[in-house]
Amino acid sequence: MKFSGKNVLVTGASRGIGAEIAKVLAGYGLKVWINYRSSATEADKIKEEIESNQGVAAVIKFDVSNEKEFIEGIKTILDSDGELSYLVNNAGITKDKLALRMSVEDFESVIKANLTSTFIGCREALKVMSKKRFGSVVNISSIVGESGNAGQVNYSASKGGVIAMTKSFALEGASRKIRFNCVTPGFIATDMTQHLKEEIKNAYISKIPLGRFGEPKEVAEAVAFLLSDHSSYITGETLRVNGGMLM
Ligand code: NAP
Repeated sequence: MKFSGKNVLVTGASRGIGAEIAKVLAGYGLKVWINYRSSATEADKIKEEIESNQGVAAVIKFDVSNEKEFIEGIKTILDSDGELSYLVNNAGITKDKLALRMSVEDFESVIKANLTSTFIGCREALKVMSKKRFGSVVNISSIVGESGNAGQVNYSASKGGVIAMTKSFALEGASRKIRFNCVTPGFIATDMTQHLKEEIKNAYISKIPLGRFGEPKEVAEAVAFLLSDHSSYITGETLRVNGGMLM
């Protein structure tokens, strides 16, 4: 995979899909900034794994839903590397509950963690990438941002918002040669889906044409493509990685 830029910030890269994105991008030769909020040991392990495979990585702690911390985090990267070539807004949470039992606080906290954080990341990336007139951003949305899901009105609203917002950023970034795209994973085997009861997992699997949950690496390779020079004429696009569950 060919990349003209040199470094990437992956938010929420201590575990799951983000950790795999970090490893895959380091394998393609980018210096990877591994962001995390609380899992310091796991983030350090990902850095060590990358370095043991001759990759270059650094760990950076901040809460993506905290504007001041996010801006400080990007400043640290600029002070170190002089630029930010790529950003993957991956960090995200769920707080599932049926709508009738969901408080406004449950709703807003997921919007803040998933959608507001992605807005902050895209806005800051647009600012710093504009100076070089180069950059590519991939936002991690979700299949339920397109399909909806019972028990996830907060999460689906946040992820649907990410899809629409990515298109608006793509329109604002195009004249500056900065691309914004989105990946919508289906059900992927990570901590986020591990707690699902076996019968619920099987019910989902019965609706997936490829007959299984996806692996984090399968999302990571799609992200790498959208960041890379190979997708130079693609912006504002939503790439589904869901085993055929939603077409
Ligand atoms: P995960 O295993 O629960 O990992 C979440 C990651 O996000 C962790 O590294 C966590 O870091 C970080 N994080 C959460 N809140 C953060 C914050 N406020 N600031 C900084 N980091 C934060 O989740 P995953 O399954 O890999 O999901 C990754 C992304 O894919 C999410 O956006 C999720 O919505 C999306 N997605 C997942 C699936 C799936 O089936 N797994 C499907 C569709 C979309 P700490 O541990 O340090 O808090």
